[in-house]
Amino acid sequence: MLYPYEIIEVKPKLNKKKVFFVAFILLAIIAISVFGVLQIAYQKKQQEIERAQIEEQAKLEEQRRQEEERLRIEEEKQKRLAIHTNPFTEEQMQAVENIYQAQETKRVFLTFDDGPTQAVTPYILDLLKQENIKATFFVLGNRAKANPELIQREFEEGHYIANHGYSHKYSQIYQNNQTVLDEYNYTEQCIQEALQNPNYHSKVFRFPGGSQGGYYHSIKKQANQYLRQNGIVSLDWNSLSKDAEGVNTKEELLQNVINTIGQKQSVVILMHDAADKILTYETLPDVIQYLRNNGYEFKNLYDIL
Ligand SMILES: [Zn+2]
Repeated sequence: MLYPYEIIEVKPKLNKKKVFFVAFILLAIIAISVFGVLQIAYQKKQQEIERAQIEEQAKLEEQRRQEEERLRIEEEKQKRLAIHTNPFTEEQMQAVENIYQAQETKRVFLTFDDGPTQAVTPYILDLLKQENIKATFFVLGNRAKANPELIQREFEEGHYIANHGYSHKYSQIYQNNQTVLDEYNYTEQCIQEALQNPNYHSKVFRFPGGSQGGYYHSIKKQANQYLRQNGIVSLDWNSLSKDAEGVNTKEELLQNVINTIGQKQSVVILMHDAADKILTYETLPDVIQYLRNNGYEFKNLYDIL
């Protein structure tokens, strides 16, 4: 006989409380996870915004700094141009004439004659730029005419362009007062053309061979006064490397500078940037080092005008 089976579905007895609890825990975990992810994403976004703001501020700051620097350079250039545009006052002339007088602090003026030349001048300019030193260049008219871009560079980089005559031929220059002034004027014209500035007047002349002594001493002496009457002041030097006198080692050049500086407080050093004076450039770092070590401050003519 068959017993009908009673199929009893044994339903697991669900504990509703337990299920609810587990579901709650799961939901809580999911909620916390979602919240955590959102939180991280939010923080990340905030950091990105902050970073972008900082970058933007830095960019603005850099732009402001560059603009300030540009204005400073422009202002300084205008000051220099004003010195060249206006005639010298008596005080300005005397400041050049009294350049060797001792000051409260030691000072040195680096001066370079007979350039500019492609062979030497650019290297000297690079070095002066690197060392942040402004010098004075007594240029020759014929060199200025041949190398206008170097004249422009000298001026743009804050150096003083002064006048050393056109030909550098003593017999030609030192015929009389007028031939000296003619050499000066013609060279001024060459500088003006190179700078494309008809208002540039250097007003400082260095006599080739110096303003005193030698065969042409008396004519130079007269011409010096004649130039001054025409608003032009002459400047020699009180130290030199003898780079134009056949010295051919760096050590000798440096030693000549050291010897001729001696104990002087205000020094004008004569050097040359003519085409054959690469040794002058090669010695210049040592000269600069010596001067720095001995407490000299580098100046150019703008600083005393
Ligand atoms: Zn010279």
